[in-house]
Amino acid sequence: PYGQRFKSRLLTSDPVTGTPSKGFDEKAYLSAKQLKPGEDPYRQHAFNQLESDKLSPDRPIRDTRHYSCPSMSYSLDLPATSVIITFHNEARSTLLRTVKSVLNRTPASLIQEIILVDDFSSDPEDCLLLTRIPKVKCLRNDRREGLIRSRVRGADVAAAAILTFLDSHCEVNTEWLQPMLQRVKEDHTRVVSPIIDVISLDNFAYLAASADLRGGFDWSLHFKWEQIPLEQKITRTDPTRPIRTPVIAGGIFVIDKAWFNHLGKYDAQMDIWGGENFELSFRVWMCGGSLEIVPCSRVGHVFRKRHPYNFPEGNALTYIRNTKRTAEVWMDEYKQYYYEARPSAIGKAFGSVATRIEQRKKMNCKSFRWYLENVYPELTVPVKEVLPGIIKQGVNCLESQGQNTAGDFLLGMGICRGSAKSPPPAQAWLFTDHLIQQQGKCLAATSTLMSSPGSPVTLQVCNPREGKQKWRRKGTSIQHSVSGLCLENKPGQLATSKCQADAQAQQWQLLPHT
Ligand code: UDP
Ligand code: MN
Repeated sequence: PYGQRFKSRLLTSDPVTGTPSKGFDEKAYLSAKQLKPGEDPYRQHAFNQLESDKLSPDRPIRDTRHYSCPSMSYSLDLPATSVIITFHNEARSTLLRTVKSVLNRTPASLIQEIILVDDFSSDPEDCLLLTRIPKVKCLRNDRREGLIRSRVRGADVAAAAILTFLDSHCEVNTEWLQPMLQRVKEDHTRVVSPIIDVISLDNFAYLAASADLRGGFDWSLHFKWEQIPLEQKITRTDPTRPIRTPVIAGGIFVIDKAWFNHLGKYDAQMDIWGGENFELSFRVWMCGGSLEIVPCSRVGHVFRKRHPYNFPEGNALTYIRNTKRTAEVWMDEYKQYYYEARPSAIGKAFGSVATRIEQRKKMNCKSFRWYLENVYPELTVPVKEVLPGIIKQGVNCLESQGQNTAGDFLLGMGICRGSAKSPPPAQAWLFTDHLIQQQGKCLAATSTLMSSPGSPVTLQVCNPREGKQKWRRKGTSIQHSVSGLCLENKPGQLATSKCQADAQAQQWQLLPHT
């Protein structure tokens, strides 16, 4: 299915001479990249490289499975898999241990190949030298692509019918692959993950992770591990049974290659790192598949506290771009909660999502509402006081007055038109929690210094975290929360000023539509 162009770039023999592999010199590979004396062992990789370098690439690890797992039996004709590992400047000792743990702890017949995708690391030899190990292949990007496009590149050349993605600092545990392959063989629409054990970033101890966690998130699309719901915990009598999960952590999973392709692989316009796990998870569930954690499969991973590599567009902007693309394509009307929880995403560029939306339509996928109701009912929709109405003073109403040539949104008073029940759009306001808004624009006191005698009040793009936009009702006045000043209708402009109970210009009537 894939072109010769890709095949020819799979280097399985010595890249310089073209002669068959001569055997891999493990010691030479590792010792070439040792820390210099006095160098901070955390600097390059955000884990303790000194401790990693000390350990054997074949070190034994504790079998952390539940005691009923070893007696499980699996089909005798499980399909083979292509293991895909993308990396950017991984430490040689962790990369090699990842590869060797796969070869050491998996029946040979199940590993078709290990495809390393070198995402433009500084030293091409980190990857190339490993191709002297049987089954190991290396693809090198000629520019930094990020893990999303790198994985797709690996998947495109994979020869096996099943894809297994791993991070470049993992160690797979006893019988890790069989239970996952079994689930995918039984139903190719299942996308499965192991329990991800913890390899300590300080001393590289291999630690068992809790067996009753699943993947969850909040409205800002921040991933978190969470307890499986109590009802499920109570009815769970078989600890070997897979756990349905709303999302996967993203780094380690097994998926049928044809299913991966059918679903649209990954969003290739996502950069570097982050967000792709939500996009894939929503897509899998909403388009007819399922996600699960298989507890009898255990894979260790070095969890880090920071990214050791650079983000060309910056870490925050990249995460926003990737999650915003996810929200725009998959979250339907619920994307508003994403923007409320992550206001910094409002107005940020995210490229075109037209082809992804088209793909979603073509596959006839279910709605995000369906996903919330059926897959993740524990994620509650934020509730808030919503008061739609007009804001009146005498015969006049607060109204938006379009934009000036500088692009500012204008706010003023105009004679009330229509009725409170059916006001013109320019005079219709929503009082939600602490925001006074109209079509995404909010009342804002542009200067909120406590010492300031007052501030002009204008319209800005809503941002629930912005103190300038926070208001509360106090009797018939509308008080700016941060400064404590009151909204006043001054000649020619709206402003905040010292609250005075008897000031006519500070009296407002909030008349609801309903
Ligand atoms: N990675 C990559 N290109 C990048 C960033 C990351 O190939 O631009 C690889 C990285 O080397 C690792 C995997 O993607 O194997 C996941 O990254 P990381 O471990 O930093 O993410 P985390 O596990 O912390 O979520
Ligand atoms: Mn990782």
